[in-house]
Amino acid sequence: MEKVYDMIVIGGGPGGYTAALYAARAGLSTLVLERLSPGGQMALTHQIDNYPGFPEGVDGFTLGMDMKAGAERFGAVTRLTEVLSVDLKAQPKRVDSDEGTYYGRTVVVATGASPRALGVPGEQELVGRGVSYCATCDGMFYRGKTVAVVGGGNSAVAEALVLSRIAKKVILIHRRDTLRATKLYHKSLLEAPNVEICWNTVVTGLDYDQVLTGLEVENVVTGERSAIACDGLFISVGRKPATGLVAGQLELDQGGYIVADGSTRTQIPGVYAVGDVRTTYLRQVVTAVADGAVAAHQAEEHLLR
Ligand code: NAP
Repeated sequence: MEKVYDMIVIGGGPGGYTAALYAARAGLSTLVLERLSPGGQMALTHQIDNYPGFPEGVDGFTLGMDMKAGAERFGAVTRLTEVLSVDLKAQPKRVDSDEGTYYGRTVVVATGASPRALGVPGEQELVGRGVSYCATCDGMFYRGKTVAVVGGGNSAVAEALVLSRIAKKVILIHRRDTLRATKLYHKSLLEAPNVEICWNTVVTGLDYDQVLTGLEVENVVTGERSAIACDGLFISVGRKPATGLVAGQLELDQGGYIVADGSTRTQIPGVYAVGDVRTTYLRQVVTAVADGAVAAHQAEEHLLR
């Protein structure tokens, strides 16, 4: 039989690489399977200010590469490959990727979450032609232009603030009359001179001619419909966990997140869920890395049994 790793980590974000670091440092043979590049969603974040130890902040891509290097220093191995299916109940656990099959005594699921779509007609076709899910990635294309942001959570407000420093005008469209975002953000948002907020408003359609030219919106209180001219639309209405691989094998909550508490244990012994993909109160880099450390410790104990 092929090599059986002590731990296979699926997903090379902060949670995955922290699990790999702790496991490899504890002497476990550790394989990280990552589809694209290390860092996960964090790698798309230009400036991270709330990860301790970096008084000037740190760019997410660099932090991702450093987390990978830290785990590899102790012998963790990375393969850039897409995982296609898993058999988590098998002994050892089986992971099929587009590069081949891997076997592990334990598996850490660290597949993260991706932006949720708004669901308006034309949305997917216009990605890259006016529709985006990441201001840090695409904001620079809208220098001096008018953009809209949909959503009222921390992400939407953070996106609006990033864009306010690039675009001529930012229109934040939120379906209610209060923001979900933490109070800390409110002041900065209200003080930004080029940010306008459309309360109680939903986007019902996209206007385009090759590229996005505007939005059709509706006020949910008055029912009034109108059009907003803009060059870009940044959609920030929450995240969708990447749990397609484990659906049917692990218990998922209503939002599709893997049911696991702070121990990161799932209902299958030797399988752990870390970071944004599990049920948790807060999804941050710092919570993901904490999960990774806990999962590796749990895996060590499991392997001793
Ligand atoms: P979120 O907190 O779930 O907010 C999603 C927002 O999108 C809500 O305002 C929601 O409206 C709105 N929304 C959802 N579906 C919609 C739809 N179909 N049409 C229009 N609006 C819709 O998600 P998030 O902002 O992505 O944040 C995810 C997690 O990351 C949160 O825990 C957040 O605190 C954290 N985060 C933290 C920071 C930070 O601390 N610096 C930064 C970014 C994210 P309602 O309010 O009406 O539900």
